[in-house]
Amino acid sequence: MSPYEHGEVFVTDDGAETDLDLGHYERFVDENLTKNSSVTSGKIYWNVLNKERRGDYLGKTVQVIPHITNEIKENIYSFENDDIDIVITEIGGTVGDIESLPFLEAIRQVGIEKESQDVLYVHVTLLPHISGSNELKSKPTQHSVKELQSLGIKPDILVCRTEFPIEETMKQKIALFCNVKTKDVIENSTADNLYAVPLNLEKEGLANSVCEHLGLEKSEAKNEDWQKMIDNIRNIKEEVNIAIVGKYVQLQDSYLSVAESLRHGGFVNNVKVNVGFIDSETITPNNVKEILKDYKGIVVPGGFGNRGIEGKIETIKYARENNIPFLGICLGMQMAVVEFAKNVLKLEDVNSAEFEENAKNPVIHIMDDQKDIHDKGGTMRLGAYPCILKEGTMARKIYGKEEISERHRHRFEFNNKYKEQIEKAGMICSGTSPDGRLVEIVEIPTNRFFVAGQFHPEFKSRPNKPQPLFAELVKAAKEM
Ligand code: GLN
Repeated sequence: MSPYEHGEVFVTDDGAETDLDLGHYERFVDENLTKNSSVTSGKIYWNVLNKERRGDYLGKTVQVIPHITNEIKENIYSFENDDIDIVITEIGGTVGDIESLPFLEAIRQVGIEKESQDVLYVHVTLLPHISGSNELKSKPTQHSVKELQSLGIKPDILVCRTEFPIEETMKQKIALFCNVKTKDVIENSTADNLYAVPLNLEKEGLANSVCEHLGLEKSEAKNEDWQKMIDNIRNIKEEVNIAIVGKYVQLQDSYLSVAESLRHGGFVNNVKVNVGFIDSETITPNNVKEILKDYKGIVVPGGFGNRGIEGKIETIKYARENNIPFLGICLGMQMAVVEFAKNVLKLEDVNSAEFEENAKNPVIHIMDDQKDIHDKGGTMRLGAYPCILKEGTMARKIYGKEEISERHRHRFEFNNKYKEQIEKAGMICSGTSPDGRLVEIVEIPTNRFFVAGQFHPEFKSRPNKPQPLFAELVKAAKEM
């Protein structure tokens, strides 16, 4: 998935590289999901081809129906066990997409194979607003319901995305044309805050409708804490600007979890975080101050490839020298080490081996015993790894415990050959893998807040449980 086309790659604890939707699910339901929660066409075809090669199909002709559709159903049914009451399956894309056809066919079959009161189809549709006549149009909704019905699926509930409230008469019209009950036409209007959406859907009666269709006992939703969080957010007066300096800034979804984590950090600190997206390629030693002068905090996020690297190093130098709160993430951490070795240790020809294989001082490199596995295109260090925080460091204080777990997605690592020199000069390795071999966090304790991690802290932040590094960055920025 290209970050420019598809937004960020979200990483689960068990190391699956998934679509960014999964990140939203985790943030909303506050559960760590697994690789089983992400099923792509590629994964389905891969499994079917492997099964065919193994002879699992006993020499039968392998086809989209039934082999691909069966594989999809198996993925859905794989959740059937005593601990799970309801499986929610989202089919991405738009009804009518060539890509999603086998998936829609598979969920149609699920409706036949299971008891009818055990299967519910919720269809999300669009109600565009025409500004000239100031009206909502139901045509696209009618059309996509028709399209879905022609594939054999009758939606039970329609969740209608809209910029404006839907009048009762409009709901009645949609109900009539789309063959659903009026109460099953649910308004999903643009919220002032993303996290208010579940509360709005609750008000619209979505959960009640779902319970009715599935024959479940209705129970009062306990949303008080969530409601309180939203009320607090709505009362925030203060604002702070924080910059994300990276190379995928044309599509802001590329840094979705980072931006969300910054906002979460704002919620606990009672400050609205205005996230600025800055293209690191535009930053030079001459303009860095001018470009970043309005920002009280800086994040250099993860990335691959050397485009925009110089700008990232300049940004980090500016943050370090001017004591601007700074959080480095993965590549951002690696560049913080490069910057430090270059400008503080004054080493010559410093780089990450990712960008200059034969640099004289490769402060970031691939460890010898990892070289084989890491052959380009090979595996990365993916998923959650434990990290031990050193007593007396900023990281230890921020997390408030000795052992933490954070998610990774990278090939290169801190080069331990430089550890002693770097620490002596004032950049401390405050977190390492339990065996001490891998440096996971560096910090400059003499700065207000200068912390960088080899992992991606943004994948663990939740609106009501902000990731500690983001919360602390925002706090430091607010206090500037
Ligand atoms: N490109 C770097 C590596 O592979 C960093 C990756 C990242 O930032 N996720 O190690």
